[in-house]
Amino acid sequence: MAVAEQQDTLDHEIIVIGAGVSGIYQLYRLLEMGVDVQVLEAGAAPGGTWFWNRYPGARFDSESWTYGYSFSKALLQEWSWSEHFAGQPETLSYLNHVVDRFDLRRHMRFDAKVRAARFEEDGRLWRLELESGEELTCRFLVTAIGMLSAPVLPRIEGVEDFKGTAFHTYHWPAEKVELAGKRVGVLGTGATAVQLIPLVAEVAESLTVFQRRPNWCAPLLNARITDEEQARIKATYDEIFARCRETPGGFVHAPDRRRFDEVPEDVRLAFWEELYATPGFAVWVGNFVDVLVDARANAEYTAFIADKIRARVNDSEVAEKLIPKDHGFGTRRVPLETNYYEAYNRDNVHLVDLNQTPIKRVTAKGIQTSAREHEFDVIIWATGFDAITGAFDRIEFTGSDGQTLREKWHDGPVTYLGLAASGFPNLLTISGPQSGSVATNFPRGIEEAVDWASALIHHLRSHGHTRIEATAEAEQSWLDHVKETYGWSLLPTAKSWFTGYNANIDGHDRLRHLIYNGGAPRYRKRLNAVADQDYVGFAMD
Ligand code: NAP
Repeated sequence: MAVAEQQDTLDHEIIVIGAGVSGIYQLYRLLEMGVDVQVLEAGAAPGGTWFWNRYPGARFDSESWTYGYSFSKALLQEWSWSEHFAGQPETLSYLNHVVDRFDLRRHMRFDAKVRAARFEEDGRLWRLELESGEELTCRFLVTAIGMLSAPVLPRIEGVEDFKGTAFHTYHWPAEKVELAGKRVGVLGTGATAVQLIPLVAEVAESLTVFQRRPNWCAPLLNARITDEEQARIKATYDEIFARCRETPGGFVHAPDRRRFDEVPEDVRLAFWEELYATPGFAVWVGNFVDVLVDARANAEYTAFIADKIRARVNDSEVAEKLIPKDHGFGTRRVPLETNYYEAYNRDNVHLVDLNQTPIKRVTAKGIQTSAREHEFDVIIWATGFDAITGAFDRIEFTGSDGQTLREKWHDGPVTYLGLAASGFPNLLTISGPQSGSVATNFPRGIEEAVDWASALIHHLRSHGHTRIEATAEAEQSWLDHVKETYGWSLLPTAKSWFTGYNANIDGHDRLRHLIYNGGAPRYRKRLNAVADQDYVGFAMD
């Protein structure tokens, strides 16, 4: 069948997978262009990350007023965030509000989990297969499947054997989980656990935290937004977003470009005290650039933060266990916390250092370490995600030559701009590996990616193109550049999902170039340059 005839037989011109922060905005933009578009969402409602992560304490570490969408001035004026760092329920309400306000829900299908997607060269189309067995076709496929949406259980013997209640934080049940008076175990001390632990500690009879490697955590310093602040925020959204556009991470906190050595020690210390007392990520991304670039500057700041932890934890042995020894401050994602360290001052909270007493297995009653069996009513796996590529690996994407994306990315992702991959025509990957959005205040990054992808789709449609594919040369040159950005900071000195490590997954025991580390302004420049040169690096017809 000719391509033109096939167009009429497609189920949709475009399918977007995912109704989270990216999918919602992508849908809005495509509808604005008059495209026939369908969103497929695995969950029962929109929200993505904010639909799934219902654990106590879940909230973002970005200022709320920098986290909302910036595309509609009316939306910005009518929505009032209640806290500087809004909790999950409020963010989920916000996303639902956006969906309803712009009448997006009727273009979304829920409980529609995509199992596989295959590109068919003959019709220049993608054929999707849902878990239900249903098939759908489209010309262009856009993934908005998130970067931390493939939860991973720990690779521990007997993990399914526990007879009490157990779940991964991502799958926290929607109905109330009763923890009062319960013996609770938490495995993990990443950003999720750090939010959860102080709240569980307040209600549980006992809480045992199993820690393999501690993280450098710092105070979130959340507060309600006062009426005056609300008025100021709403009056200055243009400035807020302009500022976010200038910073590498899309936050309001800009790095301090003074040379570390040129700032006298007392001034440095006063500055660091100020950062530690500033809400949000200032403590990380508002610091001297040198702290994340120069090992000596990093060591000094790391020592400063270690003292802060010592000052907050009563038991000095526990404090030492909570202080990371294997990586410097900021080289892994810094969890922001509210009374995290103080939780360990409670009599009902116990820290198990897995370096001293490793886990042997999970039992019917709890967790057996080399020292003893810990019995629980509830075990919470706060063990993180198969980050960035995991969500792609869980769908079988098959490209034009029969290769799957999983096979192509087996030794690490290879993409063009993080938004496309050669061998996979007509596929755009919002927040794909090596895109700029995965290293930023997420909505700020994905708004730009979606705008860029939408302009590209407009270009294709207005030129009557039915096929687009990144060239292998463009892809190689992007990969080289992404690798180069790993040399610009101390980030690769630490093992975490930032650098592609995950001991629970085969093959993820080495550096994988998942993230574009060049900063949002540089990424934007690259995207704009590609668009200005008629989408150089793509073959279209
Ligand atoms: P994570 O940072 O990857 O932490 C997972 C934790 O589980 C780590 O402490 C890890 O220990 C531990 N773990 C995993 N497998 C284990 C095993 N087999 N034995 C012992 N310990 C094990 O995951 P996360 O806390 O869910 O956070 C992931 C990301 O989500 C964050 O970095 C952040 O970007 C995002 N997030 C954001 C927010 C927010 O915006 N406020 C909140 C939560 C999460 P090791 O460190 O030793 O591997």
